[in-house]
Amino acid sequence: METPTDVLAPDVEAVVAAAVLVLRQTPSAVVTDIDGTISGIAPTPAEAMVDPGAKAALGMLMERLATVAVVSGRAPRDGEAMVGLPDLTYVGNHGLERIVRGTPWTHPVAAATQPAIAAALTEIENAARMAADAPWLLVENKGVTGTIHYRLAPDPAAAAALLEPLVRAAADRHGLRLTFGRMIFEVRPALAVNKGTAIRDLTHDLGLRGIVFFGDDVTDVDAFRALRELREAGEAATLRVGVLGPDTSPAVLAEIDLSVYGVPACAATLLALAARLADTEETDGA
Ligand SMILES: [Mg+2]
Repeated sequence: METPTDVLAPDVEAVVAAAVLVLRQTPSAVVTDIDGTISGIAPTPAEAMVDPGAKAALGMLMERLATVAVVSGRAPRDGEAMVGLPDLTYVGNHGLERIVRGTPWTHPVAAATQPAIAAALTEIENAARMAADAPWLLVENKGVTGTIHYRLAPDPAAAAALLEPLVRAAADRHGLRLTFGRMIFEVRPALAVNKGTAIRDLTHDLGLRGIVFFGDDVTDVDAFRALRELREAGEAATLRVGVLGPDTSPAVLAEIDLSVYGVPACAATLLALAARLADTEETDGA
């Protein structure tokens, strides 16, 4: 049957072909990051919107696969509101919180850390505004984590240099972990929880045998690494797809199997994958 997937760009076709093989190992899952992967990076997090094609594709994939999950640094309610598909699994705050088909869960230690996160963010914001006129500064309290954004700064390198010691000091004072992302710092509970442990938990809890993961940023490297380890241990077939951009980190490039360039190409890949799985099912059933 003639389908739009017959005329895919070579990078998209390569991902779709490899993903189909991995997803045949059932039960299987497609797992994706949000920002920079299925949603363009916006000046502020509130302005970001999930690509409509990606959203449609995730809905179609949900009909074919055991699990479709979103693993994000955002709070899971925020991810759920952005993607808007209630049947998906939403892992938020890098694995500290989850919503599985409407039922929320928060890591108990992380829940107890919320006052420390709030206090650290207030101190960071006050210190930064005292040190500089910083209308570009955006401090986001996500409950069990906090994000300090400097994407709007006219000189992001200078902004990072100003903020890093302040963020580090506040994190130390409150016993929090400091992590880095694209134009952001994050403070998190001092727990060994990240997108990698989130992927492992999903894999083990659901008994997954095939996992295709899409991500773009350094916080996704933990997930990419966990997926390589699961594959090397023979626990699951995995495919790690990097969604590249002009400022992709070398750490991402070092831990991916295949890549596409930009959010629209990622959305096109998800749509083509959903179409290919539907075709395969028809052929198998015929
Ligand atoms: Mg991202």
